[in-house]
Amino acid sequence: MKQPRILIIYTGGTIGMIEDPVTKTLAPFDFTHLMENVPKVKMLDYHIDNISFNPPIDSSDMNIFHWQEMARTIDINYDKYDGFVVLHGTDTMAYTSSALSFMLEGLMKPVIITGSQLPIGEVRTDGEENLITALQIAAARDASDGGPMVREVAILFENYLWRGCRASKRSADNFNAFVSNNYPRLAHIGLGIDFNVEALARPMTGKKLCVQYNLDRSITIIDLFPGLCETTLRHLLHTPGIKGVVMRTYGAGNAPTAPWFLDAVRDAIDRGIVILNVTQCVDGSVRANRYVSGDMLTAAGVLSGYDMTLEAATTKMMVLFGRGTATRDVVVNLSRPICGEMTVL
Ligand code: ASP
Repeated sequence: MKQPRILIIYTGGTIGMIEDPVTKTLAPFDFTHLMENVPKVKMLDYHIDNISFNPPIDSSDMNIFHWQEMARTIDINYDKYDGFVVLHGTDTMAYTSSALSFMLEGLMKPVIITGSQLPIGEVRTDGEENLITALQIAAARDASDGGPMVREVAILFENYLWRGCRASKRSADNFNAFVSNNYPRLAHIGLGIDFNVEALARPMTGKKLCVQYNLDRSITIIDLFPGLCETTLRHLLHTPGIKGVVMRTYGAGNAPTAPWFLDAVRDAIDRGIVILNVTQCVDGSVRANRYVSGDMLTAAGVLSGYDMTLEAATTKMMVLFGRGTATRDVVVNLSRPICGEMTVL
């Protein structure tokens, strides 16, 4: 067995933070500090290299340029390593895992994103276990064909490995901070790492990594609530330069049936704006034709995002508009799964 070669990309986040002795706030710190606190990594017989963001960031500062930097690092080093571990803050981790899932077309190697709720220097930290497990997952091989066990972007956190474009942060306190309500776990981590082989992506062999670097930020999110009024809705739908809207609707994809609402939506679609419907519910799918209210949205030209997370829907739109193709191509690709991000009903 050859020694696994893993590249760690350290972006920041709580895992590498230390407490300011005066203000008591946590701020990102360098990679050397992080590794000094995990001497056990040396017990893994792996060849491990690292690349750090300079400076490391709190993930609430994450933006598309950071995603491009991560994707470029993976692209440049793709042939030199068996797998990649990205250390990242939890706050926007699910956006990053979704963005990378869409950007890294043809990915055949593991990109495992992890972080922690408590800094690595704290006695009860979850960071040490998460880092070591992420490295082991990135190095794992599938005995059936000798290839990598994971061939996609995934989030490893505490007891679970989730598909990157299916996960969301669900707890600010719990060590099990991430969930994927509409797609099964890729692995359960207990005494061992128990992979859920049926759920793991098995892309067609022979594909080459082709990174889509361009992302278009001309999109927004509209969250419905019973007090939303026409002025606000029209204002949002007239945001200068806007090309796409992720609309977070009620239940199975429902929205007000009031004429002012549907008129504003129709007007936006007539102006070429693409509107994608995802549900505010934490699990389940948009079933656009189940109720009159959902049916009216479909008739107005709103697309179903089925069971996509908000993180997947927004990043998918950014990547598709980033291709610079005609709006009708964006519409076609929004309606079909690209990397296992949704289940079409
Ligand atoms: N604010 C931190 C971050 O996202 C939280 C964390 O890492 O858990 O960078």
